[in-house]
Amino acid sequence: MQFGEFADIAAEIEELSADTEITEQVTHLFEGATDDLPVLARFVQGRVFPAWASRTLDIGPNYCYEAIARAAGTNVSADDVEDRLAEVGDIGEVAASYDFGGQQGLGAFTGGGASGTGASDGSGTSGANDLTVAEVADELDALAAAEGSGSQDTKIDILFALFNRADAVEARYLARLVLSEMRIGVGEGTVRDAVAGAFDVPVESVERALQVSNDYGEVARVAREEGESGLAELDLEVGRPVQAMLAQAGTVGDALEDWEEVAVEWKYDGARVQIHYDPEGLGWDAADDSADPTRSADAAGGEGRNRDNAREVAIFSRNMEDVTDALPEVVEEVEANLDAPAILDGEVVATEDGDPLPFQEVLRRFRRKHDVARAREEVELDLFAFDCLHAAGDDLLRTPLPERHERLDAIFDAEDGSGESVVSSLHLADDADEIASIETKALDAGHEGIMLKNPDSTYSPGRRGKNWLKRKPDVETLDLVVTGAEWGEGRRASFLGTFLLSARADGDAGDGDASNGEFETLGKVATGITDEELADLTDLLEPHIRKQEGQEVEIAPKVVFEVGYEEIQESPTYSSGYALRFPRFLGVRDDKDPESADSLARVERLADEQ
Ligand code: AMP
Repeated sequence: MQFGEFADIAAEIEELSADTEITEQVTHLFEGATDDLPVLARFVQGRVFPAWASRTLDIGPNYCYEAIARAAGTNVSADDVEDRLAEVGDIGEVAASYDFGGQQGLGAFTGGGASGTGASDGSGTSGANDLTVAEVADELDALAAAEGSGSQDTKIDILFALFNRADAVEARYLARLVLSEMRIGVGEGTVRDAVAGAFDVPVESVERALQVSNDYGEVARVAREEGESGLAELDLEVGRPVQAMLAQAGTVGDALEDWEEVAVEWKYDGARVQIHYDPEGLGWDAADDSADPTRSADAAGGEGRNRDNAREVAIFSRNMEDVTDALPEVVEEVEANLDAPAILDGEVVATEDGDPLPFQEVLRRFRRKHDVARAREEVELDLFAFDCLHAAGDDLLRTPLPERHERLDAIFDAEDGSGESVVSSLHLADDADEIASIETKALDAGHEGIMLKNPDSTYSPGRRGKNWLKRKPDVETLDLVVTGAEWGEGRRASFLGTFLLSARADGDAGDGDASNGEFETLGKVATGITDEELADLTDLLEPHIRKQEGQEVEIAPKVVFEVGYEEIQESPTYSSGYALRFPRFLGVRDDKDPESADSLARVERLADEQ
């Protein structure tokens, strides 16, 4: 396909707003594709390389401005391009605003195989219109491959030659493609639906193939050439990263309601890593340029992969950037503790003397290209593995979480410096107290909190679904007065265990009432309290007991607790008309007397703001 034809379709798509119309256009684009289908499936999303590839164009915006300026003529400088960009805000529009194609002489300097024969059509408004999509892909490939001293000049030369052959519409989309700013409204879902529509295969099989291969181009090609059965044969490849499963914010209350039993894990505050290991050498090397089977015709079908790769371990960041070289200690740990092919999911945390450091420290390690040995001495990294996508020949994406976790436990037997397993503990819990005590332990160990996972869930790459919840941090805490309690049971029979909490009924409610010393109940807290604290709280509250009936006692309002909670709900159970969802004891406010505890008015305000 001519690049001009692609650019015209992109321009048409950009004008559309309805998803169905956009999908229809992309479907036509795919139907009309030839060998360039894989490239088109990427370009239309604004991607130059497959999603799994670590390769990037590695060209800064300034170099792109330079190339545009050169193609625009001797009287245009990179600064002029940047100024125009500051005015119009879209590099595509800026590129389209120049008259390219008159710089034949300079074309002779182009590198990387670009033809550099930029010919003007005489009108001064467009190039020769002879650029094909495949050629643009090849030139961008050459651009990405340029390395070493002088490589920036080579990159500018290649880009210049492309712009020099582009007309206004081509230039618009070329510039956007190069700077990853395509923005024509075509996302992953559109491409999925268009592949299904163009080649008459079920959307689900395209979706599955995309999840395991992470390669829109390859999936489009296989859908066209081999249909549904071909798609079903695409599998995970050790060495080729897939998108990480993502989490959304959620509450313990929701998790228990939805699943009854919740798989709870510590949430580590670091950076996500996907670890690929094969003791025989990675069959697919995302860091290797020759690894992309859709790049050249003779390599199509995956034959072009470098199968003798010497790398056994590859580590990818959440964006699928190859960070293996920056994390030698993780590589060593993996090599020492795995002995069969595996893909692990986990978090890398920076620590100092065993205590977690802010996650920015990990990112600094990720970015480090030189002097890694020194960086390693400065910031220590600990790996925590929490999932397993592939173990010893078995793809586990469709396997439920607890089973995946068992496989992880079985294959990865690593310990940290203090003898603790580096595999996360997965606790199955069915009550809020148990979950709260896991959270308390996670926080005590310096970690971020907890993750709540659906025990029946499979691994969905790239999905921010409801099966993984990061527990919402508490909203603003409340300082509430203890007005009642219950004696515990069994081992805790001599302690007060469950505490009735109240807010001041008076005060800043805006109803003109002066302080009347009354309190309205709001909930009970029994969670987040250690045995030791229970003994102290009993000593503190027992002298204020006013009345006792069975297990329940009424307590004079003297003591203020600080409590966290997930939500304030309207509820007929308590006299305030509200109830706290998942309340947790955070501490005694020794510094506050009941008159300065929170008022019902504040509770109402917080409930409204939720
Ligand atoms: P957030 O970055 O706030 O969206 O939280 C989700 C992230 O928490 C994941 O992408 C992981 O990087 C990280 N994380 C830490 N511990 C876990 C865990 N046990 N399970 C899943 N994700 C975790």
